Amino acid sequence: MKTENTVWHEQQISKEQRASLKKQKPCLLWYTGLSGSGKSTIANAVDALLFARGCHTYLLDGDNVRHGLNGDLSFSDTDRIENIRRVSEVAKLFIDSGMIVSTAFISPFASDRKMAEDKLASGEFIEVYIDTPISVCEQRDPKGLYKMARAGEIKDFTGIDSGYDVPATPQIHVKTAEKSVQACAEQIVEHLITQGFIS
Ligand code: ADP
Repeated sequence: MKTENTVWHEQQISKEQRASLKKQKPCLLWYTGLSGSGKSTIANAVDALLFARGCHTYLLDGDNVRHGLNGDLSFSDTDRIENIRRVSEVAKLFIDSGMIVSTAFISPFASDRKMAEDKLASGEFIEVYIDTPISVCEQRDPKGLYKMARAGEIKDFTGIDSGYDVPATPQIHVKTAEKSVQACAEQIVEHLITQGFIS
C-alpha cells in the first residue's frame, strides 16, 4: 500500500440509501467465459432488458476499459491481474452508488474471480458462466482471434495455449449453444428477479 497517510472519510449518504432511491439491490454480474462465448453480447442484451424495466445499470466491457483506465496494461500475467483488480475496484464504487454493474472479461483464473468477489459484500458478486464449447467459439470467431491464435500470431490465448478454470459453482450457468441471445439474457434477468435484486 503506497498511500499510508490517508484516512477513510465516512460519507453522509449510504449505499443502502442510494439503492433504495433506485428501487433495486446493487450487485455485480461477473460474466466469465472463453473469447467468443458471448459475454459482451449477452451482457449488452441483459443491460437493455434491465434499462427497459427502469433499472439503473452500467456495463464495464473488457476491451472498452482497456481503451482508457487500463490503457497502460499489457496482457502479461501481472498486468492481467492488475486489470481485474482495477475493474473490481471500479465495480465496487458503482455498487456503492446503488447500481447493478456488469463486467465482461474472459477472467480465466478462478483466483482472479475470487479476488473480485472478496472485495464485495456477501451476496453482491454473481458469477455468470457463459458456457460455450470452444468448437462453437472458434466457429463464431467474431474478432478473428482464434484464426490468429491457431496461426501462432497470438500467444497465451485462452483455450488454446492458456488455461481456463471452469467455474465450480457459478450462480448463473448459461449454455449459449442451446438457446438464443434473448433467451440467455432472460435467464439472467429472471435470476435477478427471483433473488430479489429487482422487482
Ligand atoms: P465474448 O464477449 O465472450 O468474447 P462476443 O459477445 O463478442 O463474445 O461474441 C459472441 C458471438 O457469438 C457474437 O457474434 C454473437 O452474435 C454470437 N452468438 C450466437 N449465438 C449466441 C448466443 N446464444 N449467445 C451469445 N452470443 C451468441
